[in-house]
Amino acid sequence: MIVATLLLAWQRLYFEMQNAHRTALSEAESIMTVVELSNAMSNTNVSPWLSSASSRFSEVVSSSYCSGGRCTADYRQAKAPLCSAGELWDSVCVQSFPRGSALSYVQVRHSLMPAYHATLRDLLVVSVVALLGLGTWFSAEQRLRQQVLRREDQLRHAARHDALTGLLNRAAFDTVLAEHLARPKAERGPATLLYMDLDGFKHLNDTHGHHMGDLVLREVTRRFGQALQDARTSLGRLGGDEFAVILPDVSEPLAVAAAVDALTESLVAPFEAEQMSAQLGVSIGAVVLDAEVHTAEEALRRADVAMDEAKRLGHGKLVLFDDLLGSRARRRQFIQSELRPAIMQGQLFLEYQPQVGMDGGVRGVEALVRWRHPRFGVIRPDEFISVAEETGLILPLGMAVIEIACRDLVALRAQGVALPYVSVNVSPRQLADPQLVAGLTGALRQNGLGPADMELEVTEGAVMEVNGAESSVLDHLSARGFRIAIDDFGTGYSSLSRLQRMKVDKLKIDRSFMDGLGEPGHDPVLVDMMLSLAKRLGVKSVAEGVETQQQADWLRRAGCQMIQGYLYARPMPLEQLANWMATHSGDHDGDEDVWSPTVSAEL
Ligand code: C2E
Ligand code: MG
Ligand code: MG
Repeated sequence: MIVATLLLAWQRLYFEMQNAHRTALSEAESIMTVVELSNAMSNTNVSPWLSSASSRFSEVVSSSYCSGGRCTADYRQAKAPLCSAGELWDSVCVQSFPRGSALSYVQVRHSLMPAYHATLRDLLVVSVVALLGLGTWFSAEQRLRQQVLRREDQLRHAARHDALTGLLNRAAFDTVLAEHLARPKAERGPATLLYMDLDGFKHLNDTHGHHMGDLVLREVTRRFGQALQDARTSLGRLGGDEFAVILPDVSEPLAVAAAVDALTESLVAPFEAEQMSAQLGVSIGAVVLDAEVHTAEEALRRADVAMDEAKRLGHGKLVLFDDLLGSRARRRQFIQSELRPAIMQGQLFLEYQPQVGMDGGVRGVEALVRWRHPRFGVIRPDEFISVAEETGLILPLGMAVIEIACRDLVALRAQGVALPYVSVNVSPRQLADPQLVAGLTGALRQNGLGPADMELEVTEGAVMEVNGAESSVLDHLSARGFRIAIDDFGTGYSSLSRLQRMKVDKLKIDRSFMDGLGEPGHDPVLVDMMLSLAKRLGVKSVAEGVETQQQADWLRRAGCQMIQGYLYARPMPLEQLANWMATHSGDHDGDEDVWSPTVSAEL
């Protein structure tokens, strides 16, 4: 810009000087005309006129007229400086020579100052305008830069923080955790990561709406912030109702428990907003960030596993991650990913455990699912049923079990084994499945069977938990002729009125009650009560997990009707079951459910 301004100034000066020179030249020429005219009229005295010309424009330096060897006075005087120019002035001379014998000469000098002044003025104006423009541009630029910086700050903050609570978001928390773990061990010191999940938040959100849920989350954030007084703790919201915190200088179990107590305590006061009052708790998984934890991902995974376990144990629990928990979690992960294809590929099969009457006759068999894994061999249901329940895989698994049980029953009967029915276990999640009744009846019909050929074992806990639709499903199934057995009886919290209302066929007393049964000094009061209850309700009683003759003898004396346990038989594959039954035919006591070879022929 400076170069452009200087160029403009130079151009302006050049034109101004040219202009002045031209004007001076034309002035000189007109003076010359007057001088010549005046001399032609023999009036050699032009001085008065010249002085008036001088005042009008520039300065007439000299003029002369020579004729016949005579010149006007000015001639000699003007000879020396003729037409030379200085810094601040320009000189113009006009001559007329020869004109007959006459020589005319006029020299004018004019100042260059006006040209310089005009140029300087323009230069000043341009500079001031340029400076003003520059200043305006500069301040606008500064403002824009500040706006950009502020926006960048906002974006950076938004990228790192949760919009609702202002806490670190998942990505930022990951980064903080990774940075902590990347520091040399001596420098970072001991620390513990807590992964927290609010208990009861989902219910609150569902019943009071998301607006209320948001208010509560902000309040939880405030309370957690107060509970964690150490300013160095990094608190983050990992999503939904999940929070995480790094507790610096905390690794001893007692110190972890103290920090957790503070957090749990902070939620004790009810959350009140807009005429709503709600109580929340928190389940916490903790992992000590020691030398075994290398990455943020690993730390969060371990804390998550511990938190899952805390949730499983019930509300408001703290679980510290350890190796056992880790291997259990890995196993669950493995089951979760491999169970679905296993169901599709027919890796599930059933083993059958007979239920024997007090006369030794077989009353029925319980179908127990197994998973024949191509690499790991046979896996027992305790390992995968709970995972299947959590993941919803229990629905296809349950249907597969029902279909296999139907096919196996038909195959057994085809071999001459007359089983009155087969018992299958039905999980609570299956009871909530609207497809259950159709699936059951469809599978039975396909195999030429009916509801009377199948007994459904539902755990006591599940029966008492179900309400509304699920309970009417049970009533509906019972009304259609399915037998209903209450499994693991004594471990749940039965409502006697509920039991009375339901049409139940069997109570299966849980095997945990068999310990010490029949031994001297053992008080069998609970089993006694359960057997009397079954009698009073008019339902059959089965004792599960009977392993000793002592237990069996006591149960017989107490009036238990059936026994299922290793004393008589362990669960066995279908192929063994037919042989086993052939060698264990019992007495025929007229009970419709008793199996015997003679009865089988008629069925
Ligand atoms: P459950 O229905 O109570 O089955 C009885 C369990 O007790 C079986 O374990 C059986 O092998 C075991 N048992 C029987 N007699 C004795 C004994 O004398 N001593 C001892 N220690 N144990 C005995 P299993 O086969 O491992 O099944 C465990 C549980 O898995 C079952 O308990 C049932 O809740 C569940 N389950 C098995 N199959 C299925 C299925 O197809 N669907 C569903 N939803 N659950 C199933
Ligand atoms: Mg069972
Ligand atoms: Mg049981």
